[in-house]
Amino acid sequence: MLVGSYNIWLVLASLLIAMLGSYTALDMAGRVAETQGQSARWWLVGGSVAMGIGIWSMHFLGMLAFSLPVPMGYDPAITFLSLLIAVASSAFALWMVCQSALSRPRLCVGALLMGAGVCSMHYTGMAAMRMTPGIRYIPSLFLLSVVIAIAASGAALWIAFHLRLGSSKVTFVRAGAAVVMCIAIAGMHYTGMAAAQFPLNSTCKMAKTGLSTGWLALLIIIFALAVLSIALIISMLDSRLKSRTAVLKSSLAHAHDELQFLALHDGLTKLPNRILLEDRLDQEIENAKRNKKSFSVLFLDLDGFKQVNDAFGHEVGDLLLVEVAQRIRAATRARDTVARLGGDEFVVLADTEEPTDAASVATKLIATVQQPYVLAGHECQVTTSVGIAIYSRDEMRRQQLLKNADAAMYHAKALGRNTYCFFDVSMNEDAQKKLEMLHDLRWALERRELVLHYQPKFDARTGNMLGAEALIRWKHPTRGLIPPGDFIPLAEKIGLIVLIGEWTVQEACRQIAEWRAAGYCEWTVAVNLSAVQFNHPGLIEMVRDNLERYDLDPGCLVLEITESTAMRDPDASLAILRILHHMGVRISIDDFGTGYSSLLYLKRLPAGELKIDRGFVRELSHESDDAAIISAIIALGRSLNLEIVAEGVETVAQQEFLTNLGCNSLQGFLLGKPMPPDELIATVSRGQIFEKAQESQPSRPPRLVAQIPVPYHL
Ligand code: C2E
Ligand code: MG
Ligand code: MG
Repeated sequence: MLVGSYNIWLVLASLLIAMLGSYTALDMAGRVAETQGQSARWWLVGGSVAMGIGIWSMHFLGMLAFSLPVPMGYDPAITFLSLLIAVASSAFALWMVCQSALSRPRLCVGALLMGAGVCSMHYTGMAAMRMTPGIRYIPSLFLLSVVIAIAASGAALWIAFHLRLGSSKVTFVRAGAAVVMCIAIAGMHYTGMAAAQFPLNSTCKMAKTGLSTGWLALLIIIFALAVLSIALIISMLDSRLKSRTAVLKSSLAHAHDELQFLALHDGLTKLPNRILLEDRLDQEIENAKRNKKSFSVLFLDLDGFKQVNDAFGHEVGDLLLVEVAQRIRAATRARDTVARLGGDEFVVLADTEEPTDAASVATKLIATVQQPYVLAGHECQVTTSVGIAIYSRDEMRRQQLLKNADAAMYHAKALGRNTYCFFDVSMNEDAQKKLEMLHDLRWALERRELVLHYQPKFDARTGNMLGAEALIRWKHPTRGLIPPGDFIPLAEKIGLIVLIGEWTVQEACRQIAEWRAAGYCEWTVAVNLSAVQFNHPGLIEMVRDNLERYDLDPGCLVLEITESTAMRDPDASLAILRILHHMGVRISIDDFGTGYSSLLYLKRLPAGELKIDRGFVRELSHESDDAAIISAIIALGRSLNLEIVAEGVETVAQQEFLTNLGCNSLQGFLLGKPMPPDELIATVSRGQIFEKAQESQPSRPPRLVAQIPVPYHL
């Protein structure tokens, strides 16, 4: 037998290429698995070629490293065929590892086929030498080479399959796996070579015409390295591009999620906003319809939120809303929806079976909201009014439910706040009326529909008329005369009260000037100020301007503020009242007895007059609590040097009683109803005011004899 020898450099080069080829093969498997469609197909083709060239080059370099003591050469056609076999086996291997699953039988079949491919490539390559006599193979080593080829293919397939979808960390594992694969492929090759036996008289048919060894080796090394490097570089660039795209994709997805959250949630409290609420409401309705269930919509509006905002600023107001939101969330079940509609309005969709369940949810919410808050060092308290609409009828729509709950909430407010109220059909009509009125009110001033009526005020002892209180009325084109209680709160809500208030003061001043010119020089006219108007920064300037405009003695103007308005922010009220008092304007504390004035505070107020709330006067009788309260108020007023006015005097008994208790002046329907200024003058000039009182109570003539001062020039 001829004894062959190995060129160690070429052996090393073959091992290097085997390693590089294995790594490329594993990398390509990853590329093919990660991509889809057309590009996956291209990766498969490119990968198969690169991998095939890698395996084949290793094998062929191994052949070139081997030399016999006879001239040698290789048949180009058979050599090329062995290359094709390598590429085809690689293609098969790549295709296999890119499938979604690699079961054991599948792996076995794959290993067998690929092993057969590798063996075919190797022994076809050997045949390219065209030796005569033919190469003999030692059966055991030949078999071993086949087993190694199959086992190596199986291992390669398994490794490649499990490493195909890898992150950046996989690079090192892949390198390790490439070493294992390289050893297996080289093992097969060199075992196959060891199995080959060349008889002593062997000659190589291709020694002259075939490809010569030296140049061929160099060419193959350069070619294989070039192909594999290019394949690797392209693969790496692609991988980087992919990971960059992935980062971009994930940040886009993140931004998208964030945008979606912002679009559906309230920025401050992070609760669902109106859009999401409406969507959930639709779902609830669908669900209720399908399962023949019911649920409830609770509409919450905070009482006193504005005051917190005014007193401590918007930052504290925001903190309050956030805390209220958290409390509502904590008081409801996870599957209930809690949303903020804006401002201080919240809506809860509660999964309730019976109205009593909804009532207990509302009670819980009211209780949790009214607990005191400490926000940025300020202690404050708010309550909430809750309107409840129950979904029960199939045809009920989302908007209708919300509207109903809203209307019920307004009723809860009207009931005195900090309570809940169930929706009733009559409420919707009220709400509709209110809406129309709100619309009309915006035009009322411009269309000159507002008027002042005047209710006379009398000295309790002498019966002299001391002046009148200006009371606003709205002459609505279709609804007739609307009392202030029906539109002043609306005007306050939409901020129109400041303009209306300016008009009232101006009109009252104009009227005073007119009456003065007519000779009623002693009369004072009282104008009511709403809380919003009282806290408006332009108030003092506005009063001063009007007094100057009509050239009035400030003493003939009385400004009435209710006790609760004065108490809202005592220090600020005190400052404003002091300036007005300094100007000479008289101050009257209206509806006295309904608030929580402290005596100490009352003493500091520069007020000249207390008006006892007509609620006390209404129930007046000798033994009543109200009599005791009025006595106390009068005693208090006296000690503070205040004039005491009783309003709402409707009967002679009340008039007598109040006069005896020591009230300084009286006002009421008995003595004179609010009336237009002309009518007041006409009545006064006819001396009819007290006559009316006598007519209405014929059995008990008033103790006082009316002495209406008839103006001197009339
Ligand atoms: P107020 O200042 O306490 O006015 C007295 C209210 O009692 C008036 O109601 C008057 O018509 C009514 N009244 C007077 N005597 C009697 C009586 O003997 N029996 C009964 N039952 N009622 C009597 P009105 O005009 O409806 O005004 C209600 C409230 O509206 C006023 O209470 C006042 O707080 C407010 N208001 C009236 N005009 C204005 C205004 O120009 N600006 C502001 N901000 N508020 C006003
Ligand atoms: Mg008043
Ligand atoms: Mg009053």
